[in-house]
This record gives sequence, C-alpha cells and structure tokens, in this order.
Amino acid sequence: MSRCPAEIADDLRCFIKSSYPGIDIRAEPWDQDPNRLAVCFTHEKFSLIYSYQRWHYLTHLIPADYQEQQLSTSVWFELAPGESPEDLRYPDEQLIADITPDVMHILQGTGFFNRLDDVMCPADAGLTRAQCWGDFRNAKPLLHKCGITEDELFDVLHVLMLQGGFCDCEILYNVVEENRLTAEYWKARAEGLEPPNPHKGAEPISL
Ligand SMILES: [Zn+2]
Repeated sequence: MSRCPAEIADDLRCFIKSSYPGIDIRAEPWDQDPNRLAVCFTHEKFSLIYSYQRWHYLTHLIPADYQEQQLSTSVWFELAPGESPEDLRYPDEQLIADITPDVMHILQGTGFFNRLDDVMCPADAGLTRAQCWGDFRNAKPLLHKCGITEDELFDVLHVLMLQGGFCDCEILYNVVEENRLTAEYWKARAEGLEPPNPHKGAEPISL
C-alpha cells in the first residue's frame, strides 16, 4: 500500500536518524513531475562528502524492500545546509567507467595506494595510524602530493567510489588488491580475532 509523503518522511527519519541525528527530511510531489515524489535529505555532515557518497550512505540505511515499494520512482536530493538541488553534482557513470583504466594507471604509478597504506596501516607498528572518518580526508592531501589537482579530484575519487572505495579505508579494502590494511584484516579473521577497525575512535560520516 502506498504511503502519503508525510508518512514516507516519517518512515525515512526512523531508518536514518540514528546515523544522522537531526537530519531534515522532506517529501513532496516533485515540481518537474508531480507523479513522482521528491525527497530532500539535509544534514551538516553532508558538507564534507560528495553527492554520490551521500546517496551511497543513505541508500544503505533504508531497507531495500521499502525502497522498492515506496520509493521506486522517487528522486532524492542529499543536501548540506545552504545547498539547493541545483548545486548537486553527480558523476557521469559511463565517463567514469571510460577513464578508470587511465586513472588507475596514473595512481599506481605515483605510489598513491602505497602512501595511503603507509598512513592507514604503517609498516612500523610503533607509528600512529590514521583514522578513517568515512570520507577522504586522508586520501585528498596524498592525491595532491601525487600531482592530482583540485579540479581532478572529482573524477579521480569517483573512479575509486565506483569500485567500492567510499572512504579512505575502503579504497584499500575494495579497490586495490595488495596492501597491509587488507592483509591485516584477513589475518585477524583467520586467527578468530576482531580485525582492527579504522573507524574506531573517529565519528564516521556513516557506519
Ligand atoms: Zn573508512
């Protein structure tokens, strides 16, 4: 049974509020097509991450069957305070797929992945390891050191996101095969131990 926009906004608040306390959610007929529902999610944490990351975190908090039954034709706008839907920039997935081999080749050549591993999981166990906050605050300065400009960051980070790297630790876990962080995870699992959690101690963007 279809629920009205106000009920849908209430349902969504229930799914999302524990990860994003105080999130503002509005649902109303979309002005460009009133047969479709427009849902606006606004939260201050979104100011630190790309639209595509915001969508990724939200969609994982809303049960798939609920999305199928109530939201299949809806359009979502994930906003930081002060933003409007026109400000949102989403990746062209075909373009990102097309540039992926070249971007990965460049990143491998600059040693970016090794440098990120050195920060997230230093070879010297005595060194302090960086935390992951569920964003790219460790990766971005390293990318700059590897010659990636501010203008190029959007394309480069979306290449990593489309391979499952939605935060610093996921770049290592999901995008590249050989790194200490992933090896450490599986070693702990094989020994029946709790793997170290890169998000521990930080207040991640999402869980
Ligand atoms: Zn992470």
